[in-house]
Amino acid sequence: MSKIKIVNNTNQAFQKTLIQENRSASFISAVLTAIIMFISRYKGPEGILLLDRFLPGLGWLQIIIIAVYAGFITQFLLKQKNIAKIRIRIWTLFSIVFFSQFIAGILISDTFLMTGKLHIPIPAVILAGPIYRGSGFFMPILFLATILLTGPAWCSYLCYFGAIDGVAASRKKQPSFPKEGWKTLRFFTTILVIVTAIIFRIFDTSPNFAIVGALIFGALGIIATIIISRSRGIMAHCSYYCPIGLISNLLGKISPFRIKINNSCNNCMACIPACRYNALSPKNIASGSPGFSCTLCGDCIDTCSSQSINYSFFNLSSKKSRVPFTVVIAVVHSVFIGIARI
Ligand code: SF4
Ligand code: SF4
Ligand code: SF4
Repeated sequence: MSKIKIVNNTNQAFQKTLIQENRSASFISAVLTAIIMFISRYKGPEGILLLDRFLPGLGWLQIIIIAVYAGFITQFLLKQKNIAKIRIRIWTLFSIVFFSQFIAGILISDTFLMTGKLHIPIPAVILAGPIYRGSGFFMPILFLATILLTGPAWCSYLCYFGAIDGVAASRKKQPSFPKEGWKTLRFFTTILVIVTAIIFRIFDTSPNFAIVGALIFGALGIIATIIISRSRGIMAHCSYYCPIGLISNLLGKISPFRIKINNSCNNCMACIPACRYNALSPKNIASGSPGFSCTLCGDCIDTCSSQSINYSFFNLSSKKSRVPFTVVIAVVHSVFIGIARI
């Protein structure tokens, strides 16, 4: 048998195994999603699923639809050439589903809301709210649990607000980052939010005043998103302004998922422009791992022709590490689409 034929056969066998592995991963995603949604339906608050609220008894149909969706996106995300595009689409879809229910809750009926009460959908409130109120720890606990499972990927797949930044940034082909010093801005906004919440609590500031403060902070973030993210092609709000982004990067280290660059890297630097979170530089590439602001988005993976950059998970090979990460992300994202609302 000629050498070329042997190589072709090996490639075909490898592709076949890959397809089978991807199918198994999709199946696992669908089953896990269905189980979590099922448990939420029977053990969670009544009417946790949208269909049950409007067409009582039909929640099972929503479980099936969301589970099938989880299987599909696992398959798509595992394809080599598609992560960046698919990621931004599914992230945007979640944001649309989330904010549609919020708007419908204000304009049409409070059945669209989680508790019947309005909350402010600004990520910084996840931190400031409980400090100010001294209660209401549901969102911080959910955030921490998600970080434990997915690391900083909260900020590239799961946050209702960050998708707006992602869409704005994707308008420009190549990112153009400001000077390194701007990275410290998030430390100041985080301290500002914590100190303000403590002061509001100590002086028993009225909730209306606190809401206005939160809205001003959120509005400034939206302006940053629209102007800076769009014009520079960077995640300006997430990487330079949002306190939750900083906490997500910090606490994300407790998750075992990482992005690593292996020895086959030839320093071509082709992956650098793919990163809109300012986590890849020649220095990071030389060190074998992205910088602190990496959110495990995976956008850089497809740009590497030598497949030198990929997910890492304990001792698994880089190709295999991508599978558990994708399954976890697909399941959590799908459950969020099926359940999350304000
Ligand atoms: S940085 Fe803030 S707005 Fe951006 S994705 Fe993370 S939590 Fe959401
Ligand atoms: S694209 Fe791949 S080979 Fe080139 S610098 Fe990045 S990791 Fe290394
Ligand atoms: S280094 Fe790669 S995975 Fe990390 S944020 Fe940048 S593009 Fe995303």
